[in-house]
Amino acid sequence: MRLVTTDAIVLRTYNLAESDRIVVCLTRSAGLIRGVAKGARRMKSRFGAALEPFTLIRLAFHEKENRELVAISSADILKSHFALNLKPEVVEVLAYMGELINEFAPPHEADERLFRMLAACVEVLASTNQAQRQLTRYFEIWLLRLAGLFPDLRACTGCGLELTDLVPTFVDAELNAYCTDCRDPQAVSNLSPQVLKLIRATYQLSPVNFVQKHTLTDQEDAIISGLTHRLIARTIERRPRTLVAATR
Ligand SMILES: [Zn+2]
Repeated sequence: MRLVTTDAIVLRTYNLAESDRIVVCLTRSAGLIRGVAKGARRMKSRFGAALEPFTLIRLAFHEKENRELVAISSADILKSHFALNLKPEVVEVLAYMGELINEFAPPHEADERLFRMLAACVEVLASTNQAQRQLTRYFEIWLLRLAGLFPDLRACTGCGLELTDLVPTFVDAELNAYCTDCRDPQAVSNLSPQVLKLIRATYQLSPVNFVQKHTLTDQEDAIISGLTHRLIARTIERRPRTLVAATR
């Protein structure tokens, strides 16, 4: 048995037996883990409120070889976000992020950048109003990029021409990007210069800076979400269950 101590973000919990909980967390040093928190449902549980979804915690757990479930020994709150749970549209965005992390993050495989990205997005949701849509697009683009599943928009696959955000770019079903001359008539996404600027801004800015500096028109949002949702559905081979009004 190995004891691991790491920062973690609680994604969801569900009940197990009479007094325990299963906790799904994205951890900084061990990636996605599922663990049993013994006695977590008792009134005077040692876990207190630390296992509320999207709380940032210092987590300690024991890993057993060949066991998928770890045994959680302690969870201390580093930052709680009680206010997040008061706004239904924020809860929807969090549920969506949680579902996608659960699908995309390989179990027990650390991804520091994914951890930091999720933590930063949760911070934005906790501190600003009405940024859910921009933030959700930001999150989707980064989730796909970190998984190597976002199209490379630097050069045309056909002729090698550098793709700038001055001319439209076309992306086909295989994630190849093309210039106007080489475009495949079957291209599924037509990215206008303004949409390309927005996508490139997500590469360069932190989530808080992105939502402060950029708003999305309905049309821009529809084009970007058309691309991200197609790529997500293709990866998880279904439509996310939590894809509802706030995240669309
Ligand atoms: Zn070309």
